[in-house]
Amino acid sequence: MQAWDVIVIGAGAAGLMCAAEAGRRGRRVLVLDHGKRIGRKILMSGGGRCNFTNYHVEPGAYLCANPHFVKSALARYTQWDFIALVNKHGIAWHEKTLGQLFCDDSAQDIVDLLVKECDDAGVTIRLRAEILEVDRLGDGFRVATAGEEDSCQSLVVATGGLSMPKIGASPFGYRLAEQFGLKVLPTRAGLVPFTLQPEDKQTLEPLAGVSLPVVAESEDGTRFAENLLFTHRGVSGPAVLQISSYWQPGERVKFELLPAGCLAQGVAESPNQELKTWLARYLPKRLVEALLAREELTSKPLKQYTPKELAAIETLLAEWSLRPGGTEGYRTAEVTLGGVDTDELSSKTMEAKKVPNLYFVGEVMDVTGWLGGYNFQWAWSSGWVAGQVV
Ligand SMILES: Cc1cc2nc3c(=O)[nH]c(=O)nc-3n(C[C@H](O)[C@H](O)[C@H](O)COP(=O)(O)OP(=O)(O)OC[C@H]3O[C@@H](n4cnc5c(N)ncnc54)[C@H](O)[C@@H]3O)c2cc1C
Repeated sequence: MQAWDVIVIGAGAAGLMCAAEAGRRGRRVLVLDHGKRIGRKILMSGGGRCNFTNYHVEPGAYLCANPHFVKSALARYTQWDFIALVNKHGIAWHEKTLGQLFCDDSAQDIVDLLVKECDDAGVTIRLRAEILEVDRLGDGFRVATAGEEDSCQSLVVATGGLSMPKIGASPFGYRLAEQFGLKVLPTRAGLVPFTLQPEDKQTLEPLAGVSLPVVAESEDGTRFAENLLFTHRGVSGPAVLQISSYWQPGERVKFELLPAGCLAQGVAESPNQELKTWLARYLPKRLVEALLAREELTSKPLKQYTPKELAAIETLLAEWSLRPGGTEGYRTAEVTLGGVDTDELSSKTMEAKKVPNLYFVGEVMDVTGWLGGYNFQWAWSSGWVAGQVV
């Protein structure tokens, strides 16, 4: 049996950050991953360019049963710290929109950064390592993989969430938490497209490819001003991905297609214009046709509407709503909501309160960020703080 100071399970964003930091402190660190490549989710992220952080990272951008939990780690290892690391490695990057920072070239740059940091810190990374068993060994742990046994003082679980099972996602981290008596909150897909109810399919499927700026709102009043995209399977685009994390099955989602007040101006300026012609100035024509086909609107010259009818149209456009059939699930979700209950963990170190020397970092815990680089920042911040103490 080989003895290590630290074993990290999961060679993803949080695991590698933690390993590099611990290695830098002179700890002997082994990283185990069952995949055949390092950081596969990083490589797929941000359309291959990795949206690695966001200028506007702040605790309010995270969903967690305890909203205070994220504050300490985010304050100790900030977006500016990660940007400095990216700059140290000479990686070219740019802001795309809404503070979202992407690599100019490829997400491979971020994986190379993490591998270089781990190499420089003397970290050993073992891939294709199927973990068979983990148990307590004194104050530390024994980790059995096919054909090998290792022991460590500190064990870090960085196995991520359930999204994208095809590239190695597994419930390993949740099972391990339960094995040690820690509570795991129910999981569901987040940052994920919606599917449609059967009755919406006929009228909305022909809109595939149509995209427009909206304000999406969930039943709890959370709002995101972003783009809505109609697809062959339902609705997607950043507005939908963001609001999906706040949606519960059976609930409706509102989309502000046109802000209230626009129509009154239209009536004053173009009284003889038909509603559909006027609307097509502001909304994609195919969407206007779909609203007519769904009999949510009827079209006639604007001056022929009564004030009551105009008010109803304004409300429809400002609060157009859908009851999604469901989500596309973990197959396409970017993240997993829920996970290891943060009440079980120290917000300063990510150590399990009841199980000394056991740590959880990254997405495996009940912390989920908005779309836009927030999830990687959580991986960097939580991995970094654990890396200072393991
Ligand atoms: C398509 C896609 C695009 C995304 N784009 C962005 C983006 O641009 N910006 C952003 O901030 N976030 C993005 N995300 C979310 C982000 O990738 C994750 O939040 C982040 O990778 C979580 O880091 P992690 O280290 O906790 O987990 P991961 O990066 O998922 O790493 C977990 C590691 O654990 C390994 N593992 C799992 N189970 C086992 C096991 N049983 N044994 C051994 N090893 C195991 C996996 O192989 C993996 O290497 C995206 C997600 C997806 C799916």
